[in-house]
Amino acid sequence: MTEVRVRFPPSPTGYLHIGGARTAILNWLYARKHNGKLILRIEDTDAERSTKESIEGIIDGLTWLGIDWDEGPYFQTDFSEDHARAAQKLLESDQAYKCFCTKEELEAKREAAMAAKQDVKYDGTCRNLSPEEINAKESAGIPSVIRFKVPHKEGVVGYDDKVLGRIERKYTDIEDFVIVRSNGKPLYLLCNVVDDIRDRISHVIRGQDHLTNTTRQLLLYEALDAPIPTFAHMPLTLDLKKAKISKRSHGEIVAVQFYRRKGFIPWALVNFLVLLGWNPGTEQEIFTKEELIEAFTLERINKSHSIFNYRKDDPKFFTDPKAININAHYLRTMPIEEIGILVKKELQEAEIWDDAYDAEKKEWYLQTLDMIRDRFHTLNDFTTSGRAYFADDFEIEEKALNKNLLKHPDLKEWLPMLADRFDALPEFNKESAEQAARDFAEEIGVKPGIPINASRAAITGLVKGPSMFELFAHMGKEKVVKRLRDSGKYFKN
Ligand code: GLU
Repeated sequence: MTEVRVRFPPSPTGYLHIGGARTAILNWLYARKHNGKLILRIEDTDAERSTKESIEGIIDGLTWLGIDWDEGPYFQTDFSEDHARAAQKLLESDQAYKCFCTKEELEAKREAAMAAKQDVKYDGTCRNLSPEEINAKESAGIPSVIRFKVPHKEGVVGYDDKVLGRIERKYTDIEDFVIVRSNGKPLYLLCNVVDDIRDRISHVIRGQDHLTNTTRQLLLYEALDAPIPTFAHMPLTLDLKKAKISKRSHGEIVAVQFYRRKGFIPWALVNFLVLLGWNPGTEQEIFTKEELIEAFTLERINKSHSIFNYRKDDPKFFTDPKAININAHYLRTMPIEEIGILVKKELQEAEIWDDAYDAEKKEWYLQTLDMIRDRFHTLNDFTTSGRAYFADDFEIEEKALNKNLLKHPDLKEWLPMLADRFDALPEFNKESAEQAARDFAEEIGVKPGIPINASRAAITGLVKGPSMFELFAHMGKEKVVKRLRDSGKYFKN
């Protein structure tokens, strides 16, 4: 078998979209599985729309996801000579021709064809101009585009798609498409093929939105006398209303950077995106990198479009709940040291990182993460819900305030009293704290849950969390005592 060479050729006209990321990931998996090469090629031919920021964003996004490539980034604009040469070759071999029809003429013909309910394909006016006619038009300064001369014959152009099976299109359904604009700039259909030929691409794995391009490009491969790669078309990603997900209608949730900001673990996002378009044929949903590379095949890419289950009106989920659940799974199960590195970045950004967490407080730091991670969904949760563990300026949850802290008006006095009891303990640990709390509840004649839940609210700002006595001991006497004494601020008078 020849070497597997796949490519990811984004047009740098925006940020890295999750659909684009998924394309990159599936190509990467295929390359890794077959010890092949992944080529990153920036298709920047559209100079007006391509930006430097977009190129940086794409490279940054892929790097964050952990998707590495073996060649490139190549830039399509560096190969314009190849594109021009190919166009010239097609002209010279009579497989392309100059077309002098003006926009207005084409528009008028299109309207007439539509009115007559006829085919709106280009009618071939310039297909058979004589060299003299061409010369005359050029001498008169009439601009021209170059069109590919689709063979006039019966039958079909077709190929075996690795995902969709046999795909065929009648020659007669394909119009003579433009390959070079009147300003001399070659178009995507041509550049993309010329580059794939030069880069010796063996497999083109891309979205089904390119299906109509593929049949036209097959004609170009044939005309340029080049071997045809294997094609595999991935399903599109649609929303619940079956509309393609896009920035315009869905906002930033389609950007890879959004997930980074929201506290996603890169591999969790990769895992989610792979399942958005591919299935292992089993119930398995969580994959290590090695497992995914092993399990991945083009044949198991889904035929039908994937649904991105995003409910704008559900504030509980800021994106597809499955993505959040997969992220939470990794948060709960990854080695705690690895979580420690990821959370460090979050704490640093929130300016509540303490260098001691990397030194004498390391054990405490990792233990804290381990105690609280079960309830968290994203890395952001460590600096929002989990803030009280690392900083004094945390906010108290409404439920914790109303249901627990303000449950009994006397808690305003009781909590500082409990603080005094703790303060007086010669040794402050799980057992002694529990004993002191229970004794105190008995003295004031309430169920232990009342001061204990109120304490949790005052100490962590939350309704739920790790076992309370463990928490007392873990937070340490000083913090516990101080927060209980300060809890008066939550009471109105
Ligand atoms: N630049 C094209 C895109 O971003 C590449 C498509 C392809 O894979 O051929 O859609």
